[in-house]
Amino acid sequence: MQPRREVFPNVIEMNQQARRRLGCCVYLVHDANEWLLMDIGYEDTLDDIIKLIREMDFPLANCKYLIATHADVDHVQALKRAKEIMPQAQVVGHRHAAKLLATGERIMTYAEIAAQGISIPMPRVEIEKTIDEGDVLEIGGLKIDVWHTPGHAPAQLSFRMGKLLFSGDNIYRDGCVGNIDAHHGSDLPSFIKSLKRIRDSNVEWLLPSHGPIFRKDNAQLQQTIERLDQYQHMADFGTCAIDWPLLDEWDDELARGEPSPA
Ligand SMILES: [Zn+2]
Repeated sequence: MQPRREVFPNVIEMNQQARRRLGCCVYLVHDANEWLLMDIGYEDTLDDIIKLIREMDFPLANCKYLIATHADVDHVQALKRAKEIMPQAQVVGHRHAAKLLATGERIMTYAEIAAQGISIPMPRVEIEKTIDEGDVLEIGGLKIDVWHTPGHAPAQLSFRMGKLLFSGDNIYRDGCVGNIDAHHGSDLPSFIKSLKRIRDSNVEWLLPSHGPIFRKDNAQLQQTIERLDQYQHMADFGTCAIDWPLLDEWDDELARGEPSPA
């Protein structure tokens, strides 16, 4: 038996529980005799996570939900094996994630980045219960509100439980955000909307999918929103940018017949 290191009442985070970095954050939420897992990470850390859960005395048969916050390989690679170990648990996620997971999609999930020699398994798994904005998940007497917060990925979900927001890849403690990548379905206007929603909420704590838990800081969120707003008008972000003002300036200069400097 291992003591449960709750980060908040009813919430355990598996990296924190292990006191070492396993991978993405894996949250266990429990009440009465039910519990769920938010993300599960890579296959090579699954056995360690299952062992920790057993040592904390959570019966595997009482796992109600295995949630995919979105379909990135670092969050869901072990989902298929986890479902085999806990067949009664329902696999839960957004319909966009369901599509990617059903086909074992490799590009949009980062399983395959040919240009960098990255090619790792992406086991197919069925999302048995699709959830979306406004849905509520229940664990014992706890109610967890589902927020659809696209931007990093179309399937990105966040989960609100009282003053806590399981905030996925929306923002991390250092103000960085989840990867912005056209091949991944990232969308800057949606991302900004999701961040504004988090800023304007009365949530007090953010429980991200990577790195430490931190207190919501509206000044930091504002800075991040303004940074992403700049990205929308920068060539650096390729097809994720919505425009590039330099080209308009150039149009005007060309039309005026201004000579380029020699
Ligand atoms: Zn991630």
